[in-house]
Amino acid sequence: MEGRALKCPVCEGTEFKQDKVVLAKYGVFRVSDYKVKAMICTECKHIMLFEEGSTFFLGVD
Ligand SMILES: [Zn+2]
Repeated sequence: MEGRALKCPVCEGTEFKQDKVVLAKYGVFRVSDYKVKAMICTECKHIMLFEEGSTFFLGVD
């Protein structure tokens, strides 16, 4: 999605702040967490999440 214009579904803003988030994944065994890219709309603060693969526990790079 690099190079593609991202549009906020709430306010149709096109400016985003990028951040990285790790989401805990729970099951019978907690093996890995989701590594997620968060795009935060600078206009209305709506957050969109994009999966970037898995990571082991709270490993943020
Ligand atoms: Zn917005």
